[in-house]
Amino acid sequence: MSLQPNSVAAGCVYLVGAGPGDAELLTLRAVRLLEHADVVVYDNLVSAAVLDFVPKGAERIYAGKRRNEHTMRQEQINELLAKLAKEGKQVVRLKGGDPFIFGRGGEELQTLAAHGVAFEVVPGITAASGVSSYAGIPLTHRDYAQTCLFVTGHLKDGTADLDWPSLVRLKQTVVIYMGLNGLPDICRQMVGHGAAPNLPVAVVQDGSNITQKVVTGTLADIPERVSAAGLKSPCLTIIGEVVKLHDELAWFKPDPAATLLPVKAN
Ligand code: SAH
Repeated sequence: MSLQPNSVAAGCVYLVGAGPGDAELLTLRAVRLLEHADVVVYDNLVSAAVLDFVPKGAERIYAGKRRNEHTMRQEQINELLAKLAKEGKQVVRLKGGDPFIFGRGGEELQTLAAHGVAFEVVPGITAASGVSSYAGIPLTHRDYAQTCLFVTGHLKDGTADLDWPSLVRLKQTVVIYMGLNGLPDICRQMVGHGAAPNLPVAVVQDGSNITQKVVTGTLADIPERVSAAGLKSPCLTIIGEVVKLHDELAWFKPDPAATLLPVKAN
């Protein structure tokens, strides 16, 4: 990745998954690329611990996005990545979790492809996998779940627009990304479509970070428990019998005194 003398170096965009927060979960490829980056464009879900791998000399660009507060529009991010690479830079586009799972990474690559910019994708540990591991909730288990469904609970016009019959199948774990606001509606709809009101549910805030919190309950009472606990984004919701294993398998010891760390926006 070093500049060749007397030649115009070609820029490249590395679309890199940062995992759910614990920097130990970065891949070797992610760390190596971060160490050689000229510029790192990162989202708000990227933890401060991961950003510590960005060298002092590299430029950092914060691209947002929180719900209802899009620092940069997706189209602007797409064009920015293409522009930086065309300037000959080694660009790391760093995204929480895995860039191809609810990460809009595909859209960014489509713009790069249209501009003829070289790119590479480095997968990361997606929230479903990382957060469930740190919460001690296996997503499948021979006694409880043979399939696992990842869905986004992002609200459209104030309600979650999901394929409810496919969510209420037996022996299935449902993992909901971005679902905190839609949680009451999701629980109501699932029960309305035949799920047992006492089906176990876990909501995990800030999974794999020292600030991790796990709240468990059932479809009937989880919205109330979550608001009583004051959970805040990012939260991952896991629905299914596997949640029963949390009491037995929770191994990660977060720091109960820790508060959410503000994301560096420099
Ligand atoms: N590409 C990411 C997902 C981006 S969507 C991935 O593969 O993980 C953002 C949603 O992911 C959040 O709203 C939340 O539901 C979930 N999420 C990501 N990191 C999380 C974490 N550390 N703890 C809990 N949920 C997380």
